Amino acid sequence: MIECVIGLGANLNNPQQQLLDAAQHLLGEANITQFQLSSLYSSTPMGPQDQPDYVNGVAIFHTTLTPHALLDLLQHIEQLHGRVRSQHWGPRTLDLDLLFYGNKNINDARLTVPHPGILEREFVIVPLAELRPNYILPNNKSALSHANTLNLRELQLIHPGLPIN
Ligand code: ATP
Ligand code: MG
Ligand code: MG
Repeated sequence: MIECVIGLGANLNNPQQQLLDAAQHLLGEANITQFQLSSLYSSTPMGPQDQPDYVNGVAIFHTTLTPHALLDLLQHIEQLHGRVRSQHWGPRTLDLDLLFYGNKNINDARLTVPHPGILEREFVIVPLAELRPNYILPNNKSALSHANTLNLRELQLIHPGLPIN
């Protein structure tokens, strides 16, 4: 069993519900246990500004899936939610990013883990710090101490965390 952290994001078609549905899907997977979902937060878009605000959260779970099998599953769930890849960092119904896979470092054509955007993204660090204030980040700081250094911009809590199981 490996402990994984994923980031969930959406800004189209009832984004909050997209994230809750994706969480329910993951929770129902036979190869995933001890699933926890953070609170969900809204924030202004990264990159192109002419798109709706985002809703983001983080989930932590244990899995027996390999990193690439987990990425396949995440991309499959994105597809079920009608994800269309057009513009870089453009609007989407669902984005599921693998942030951490245990303490493994992966760099290949399909996967960079830890995800390279983590430290700059308040919409990842704040929900992670909520679930695991002592989670050690690639800069060797805890999630909570790093969260306190970030500009929280327009981040707003919109849905409480779910102790799903
Ligand atoms: P960002 O990764 O900066 O948040 P994005 O999530 O919008 O951008 P996507 O269009 O969802 O990017 O994914 C583009 C590609 O990124 C995917 O096809 C996937 O192979 C690759 N990728 C590399 N590392 C990861 C990772 N850790 N998690 C998810 N996808 C990854
Ligand atoms: Mg992303
Ligand atoms: Mg992605």
